[in-house]
Amino acid sequence: MFPLQDRFGSNSKTPPLRVFHFPYRMQITQFWDACLKQFKDELSPQQFNTWIRPLQVRADASSLTLLAPNRFVQNWIRERFLSRIEAEASEFFGQNVAVALNVGEPPAALPAPAGAAAEAVAVAAQAARPATVKPAESANASSLNPDFTFQNFVTGKANQLARAAGMQVSGNPGAAYNPLLVYGGVGLGKTHLIQAIGNEIRQINPGAKVRYIHAENYVSDVVRAYQHKSFDEFKRYYRSLDLLLVDDIQFFNGKSRTQEEFFYLFNTLVEAKKQVIITCDTYPKELTGIDERLISRLGWGLTVALEPPELEMRVAILLNKARAVGQVLDENVAFFVAKHIRSNVRELEGALKRILAYASFHNQEITLPVAKDALKDLIAVQNRQISIENIQKTVADYYKIKTSDMHSKKRSRIVARPRQVAMYLAKELTQLSLPEIGANFGGRDHTTILHGCRQIAKLKDTLPELNHDVNVLLQVLRG
Ligand code: ADP
Ligand code: MG
Repeated sequence: MFPLQDRFGSNSKTPPLRVFHFPYRMQITQFWDACLKQFKDELSPQQFNTWIRPLQVRADASSLTLLAPNRFVQNWIRERFLSRIEAEASEFFGQNVAVALNVGEPPAALPAPAGAAAEAVAVAAQAARPATVKPAESANASSLNPDFTFQNFVTGKANQLARAAGMQVSGNPGAAYNPLLVYGGVGLGKTHLIQAIGNEIRQINPGAKVRYIHAENYVSDVVRAYQHKSFDEFKRYYRSLDLLLVDDIQFFNGKSRTQEEFFYLFNTLVEAKKQVIITCDTYPKELTGIDERLISRLGWGLTVALEPPELEMRVAILLNKARAVGQVLDENVAFFVAKHIRSNVRELEGALKRILAYASFHNQEITLPVAKDALKDLIAVQNRQISIENIQKTVADYYKIKTSDMHSKKRSRIVARPRQVAMYLAKELTQLSLPEIGANFGGRDHTTILHGCRQIAKLKDTLPELNHDVNVLLQVLRG
């Protein structure tokens, strides 16, 4: 545990309170902010967003209560974090504080529909979208792609929590976590995962009425219902579903009428214990153009992240994808591709397709030289984009040190650690050899670079904050 000062800044210097001052919101807010900050520093972003961030804090004159969105989170918090939060609260308030932990009520519903004029504008703006299947026409069609299954969804550190949550929902739809919200960057498997849940539920219960829809198509459905004055039919259809999967709800941005309609649908389904599963491209609280109440309502189930896959997982995905099309990929080739294509699974698939096509076109076996040749342009483009100077400058900015410190001999931790991070990133993101990297870091020996890279690779696994820094930097640098 950190010393009190570090944790609560100047607050800890004020004398301990003699009287219980819970009614003062400011102090509760200050306490909870300090607690959040503390957990944020200690946990991985994924853990923090899943367990801590959805908690709400309430207080009355004599007690402090935390509200968890569901029993799953409640149990988890009770087992792992509650005594710790109580200790923090006792220190903060200067006396023993018991913290109650309950499952809370969802936030209140949206206000009455906006004015007709505002709706007309929103609808006119949406009307230009291409038409899709009418809800009524697709009444029996789930729109699920049978190729997306759990069996071919490769698991690793980056997605194991999301996958486990998905499996639980499949086994217990409407009851385990509702809604299940899956978020993550492009090409990380959101669509695959939620469709796998849909397929699994259909397999267990073929009679289940399931519908997968991309958010853009849902917007079109709302517009069409408007144009044809067929809202009753629209509502009847969507409200009759047992499982609704809505993909990429960031597309609801600014579409107020759609959001409102969705909000009511969402409440109706959840209240009837029908499962709702949603994806979006960022942590929900960071979504733009989406009504606050809808966002907070979405967080009232379980929110799980998909992260970029690590090297071994990328290799496993490549081997699996190759096998699925009847090819046996040599491990050396898989490692080569996985080392160079790191951003997301979709790009990995693209690279694999390219190699397969290249080998078949030239009538050659898939060997390492063939793979290198096939991906030559792709890799060259990647490498050109990321220069070592760029890495050094980005890392220096991030840690608020001088770029010249990358070359200096200073050994204090404040500059040495960022310098090692930059070495690690140079090794990851460029094709430069260790001596070449060393030359760019003030003429350091290649063994120093190797030590730096290994140090960061090792520490990343034990220091969530460092792991977070490296992931953010990787994302920034890869654009
Ligand atoms: P997103 O919806 O997050 O943009 P997708 O679900 O469309 O990403 O995934 C992109 C491609 O990568 C799909 O072909 C999908 O099958 C594949 N994919 C993603 N994650 C995995 C995984 N863990 N295992 C196997 N294939 C995956
Ligand atoms: Mg998708």
